[in-house]
Amino acid sequence: MSHRSANLLHPDQHGYYGDFGGAFVPEMLYPNVRELQENYLKITATKKFRSAFEKLLKDYVGRPTPLFYAENLSRQYHTNIYLKREDLCHTGAHKINNTIGQVLLAEALGKTRIIAETGAGQHGVATATVCALKGLECVVYMGEKDIERQAPNVARMKMLGAKVVPARSGSKTLKDATNEAIRDWINHAADTYYIIGSVVGPHPYPDMVARFQSVISREIQKQLKKITGNELPSYVIACVGGGSNAAGAFYHFIEEKKVKLVAVEAAGLGIKSGMSAATTQLGTTGILHGSKSLLMQTADGQVTEPHSISAGLDYPGIGPLHANLYTSKRAEFLSATDGEALAAAFNLSKKEGIIPALESAHALAVLNNKKFRKSDVVVICLSGRGDKDLATYMDNL
Ligand SMILES: *Cc1c(COP(=O)(O)O)cnc(C)c1O
Repeated sequence: MSHRSANLLHPDQHGYYGDFGGAFVPEMLYPNVRELQENYLKITATKKFRSAFEKLLKDYVGRPTPLFYAENLSRQYHTNIYLKREDLCHTGAHKINNTIGQVLLAEALGKTRIIAETGAGQHGVATATVCALKGLECVVYMGEKDIERQAPNVARMKMLGAKVVPARSGSKTLKDATNEAIRDWINHAADTYYIIGSVVGPHPYPDMVARFQSVISREIQKQLKKITGNELPSYVIACVGGGSNAAGAFYHFIEEKKVKLVAVEAAGLGIKSGMSAATTQLGTTGILHGSKSLLMQTADGQVTEPHSISAGLDYPGIGPLHANLYTSKRAEFLSATDGEALAAAFNLSKKEGIIPALESAHALAVLNNKKFRKSDVVVICLSGRGDKDLATYMDNL
């Protein structure tokens, strides 16, 4: 069965981007998912919602985030490189743009209990933060292995008043935490809102999260227009875990064919090493966490354990919007290994005085593989800051 959507940007009414998307959920969750499908566009279009969302993005998150001309990096790569500074958002990454949107939606729907899944803990921290702000009960599911390797973020969530529940099945990482969150949602469907942290999950989550994150590309347009006189860059480059920072950075450029979009996946120890998270290079079509997309799986449909040095990219799938950008060739999909990301992180720190998140360092790493013109305008989404990754950086210094 083939689903055609009108364009690359918006899914059709069933949540399909081309052949990818949809809503594959247990029957117990139909009412919740349908309630969201029927209401998310209506509620987010109201004046009340828009003004509350924009006010919090401005005064609480600190938006607009700067678009920084990286002079030293530009000299190094003989082109013009701008960094979109999502690392300067409150809580240290782009994730909070989305959790603010979804917590306002949960309030509008009358939900009193919030659940979330988290890998590196960035989405968990962003969710715990907005729940503290709104006085809502918050439960975060996190793989037991991630709880061990991301201790500072676990402490932050607890300090913010969230309950962190370990997921002890499978590889004890993000995909297992997601399974636990879905199980919780089924058991508490009436009062609970599930805040998903990326452009994944059943329709309408991918579209909803992309819309909340699209503030990133809206700001890039305005800022570039002011700096260069042209609101369109030559390139936008972003790393892809599930794909939310890339979706946000690409959003207003997806239908501008002159803008080259580059998505960067985690190659781990190398695409062919068996220790990788490069979904488009290794994946096939299947259903994971509520939607049909590309995912890494064995011939008989068992999800493959992914590997990346960055917990935020350590996920065996990508969202349906990106699967469609890949198969339609609208975006170029590259990858960076653990070692290449580390080198790029050290380079940015020394050259510009900015310590990036390991995830964002993957986007920076492909500067070594692309040939740019001197006149090109290259925007890189610096999705988060590196404080959480200091232990890994020190191990590799
Ligand atoms: C979570 C995270 C990512 C990966 O998630 P996307 O949904 O692909 O954006 C990338 N960078 C940072 C800093 C993150 O916290």
